[in-house]
Amino acid sequence: MKIVNDIQALRQQVKAWRMQDLKIAFVPTMGNLHEGHLALVKAAHQHADKVIVSIFVNPMQFGLSEDIDNYPKTLEQDKNRLIAEDTDLLFIPTSDIIYPKGYTDNTFVEVPNISNLYCGKSRPGHFRGVATVVCKLFNLVHPDVACFGSKDYQQLQIIQTMVDDLSMPVKIVPVEIIREDSGLAMSSRNGYLTAQEREIAPSLYKTISWLAQEIKTNKNFSELCQQAGEKINQAGLTTDYISICHAYTLAAANEDDKNMVILASAFCGKARLIDNIVVNL
Ligand code: AMP
Repeated sequence: MKIVNDIQALRQQVKAWRMQDLKIAFVPTMGNLHEGHLALVKAAHQHADKVIVSIFVNPMQFGLSEDIDNYPKTLEQDKNRLIAEDTDLLFIPTSDIIYPKGYTDNTFVEVPNISNLYCGKSRPGHFRGVATVVCKLFNLVHPDVACFGSKDYQQLQIIQTMVDDLSMPVKIVPVEIIREDSGLAMSSRNGYLTAQEREIAPSLYKTISWLAQEIKTNKNFSELCQQAGEKINQAGLTTDYISICHAYTLAAANEDDKNMVILASAFCGKARLIDNIVVNL
């Protein structure tokens, strides 16, 4: 696995592969890699000849009150995991390389409406930071394909919308959520959970699984969401939001919708967990 930190070396390698007519797949991450990330790398191999992974903890997507300095870093372990998955190139830029002029005054990409809902409401500016860095990384890597996890469902829809709206020549490949045996969606943020919190964290998934069954027969969505929120709170978490949405626009679903997604987020101690289930009737 080739490891590069600077843009010139990255561009050189990408150009060499392009001259050989090789297809490139890209997996952007913030590191602290787990099976969820590795599933993206496996999917990437199925779509291209060469796989590039980036590890960059993007300051632009963290709010002022969010502790970027304590974001878990496990670089040596990440490298070994990526080598085991036959990753061809790992790009690890610093913030100065991605944002040479800083990130508060730069040109940005913002996908309207959808960015202000759900997680965007709880984390103002978050999706602007995500869309901007993904756009920049696409401009550096020029991938044919990029893999994103369905775990971050709203992020996936935002990236797909950005690619469509700005005619970016990249195919977005969604990858299924990888869960722990308890049902808890794998996440770097699970590392913040205490042993006791780990016991109750799976109640988020349990509750949205219950909701996914209920909506097949009960069309009173707002009442169902309220009940689901109460179940999550009773389990010892604090519900941030729970919503039954149209699968693509993410607008509140109505009773005639056939393709829906349940989006949910809850605080469990210091960690803010997110999860979702797609429901196709
Ligand atoms: P992150 O490092 O948290 O920015 O995540 C990088 C990529 O991994 C994103 O596309 C996430 O959606 C994806 N990802 C994170 N956790 C999971 C998971 N449990 N299952 C599938 N994909 C995941």
